[in-house]
Amino acid sequence: MKIKYKQFNFIIPLAAIFILTFSAVIALLSVGGEETVYYFNQLSFTPDPKTVCIDAGHGGSSSGATGEGGKRLEKDDTLRLSLLVRDELVKRGYTVVMTRDTDKDISLEDRCKVANKSKASLFVSIHRNSTSGTGQGCEMWIHSMNPSDDRLLAENILQSLDLMGADTSRGIHTGYREGANKNYYVNRCSKMPSVLAEIGFISSKSDNAQFDQKIGELAAAIADGIEMTLLEMNGE
Ligand SMILES: [Zn+2]
Repeated sequence: MKIKYKQFNFIIPLAAIFILTFSAVIALLSVGGEETVYYFNQLSFTPDPKTVCIDAGHGGSSSGATGEGGKRLEKDDTLRLSLLVRDELVKRGYTVVMTRDTDKDISLEDRCKVANKSKASLFVSIHRNSTSGTGQGCEMWIHSMNPSDDRLLAENILQSLDLMGADTSRGIHTGYREGANKNYYVNRCSKMPSVLAEIGFISSKSDNAQFDQKIGELAAAIADGIEMTLLEMNGE
């Protein structure tokens, strides 16, 4: 009887701990899904301090937004600019991994897989904005948790864009355009600090003119922001 009682005494707390842990995980997943995914993603990820991943938004059958009566496609602008950002960073001694360097389809999931596998320290997804109204200027989107390194990256890119004369008044936004608690897929599933950068409006004549005339300066500014962030993150 005594032995049986001891066994019973041991099993109850163990079962309680198990049930509590299980309930806590379920509660976390259901209540704070985005946050939980974010924190799980950060676990056991050791990035390479000299590697950056650049994501040219859209591609292939996904044209993204269009401008100039449908003749101008977001996927072409993002690729043109992304390739120049890559060249800038390579010149400065960084390893740059591109999610695409040609006009091809690549899923959001695969973009994150490329970034995570590359062990990049930072991830920048380049897009162009669009509106049926009169919007113009650049804006940065970061994860709804407002992580400090992601914000630093967004701030540094915006500051560099501002210095070269781009309109940065739209600033930094967290979450997703259609819901502050949601996130852009690339911000949610990349394991490193990330920013989705909207480089002007494809629906704005003046933004397109600046994009075409100053694309080299835009690329250098984005590279400056990335480099500044890497130096600050690595304590240099
Ligand atoms: Zn886009």
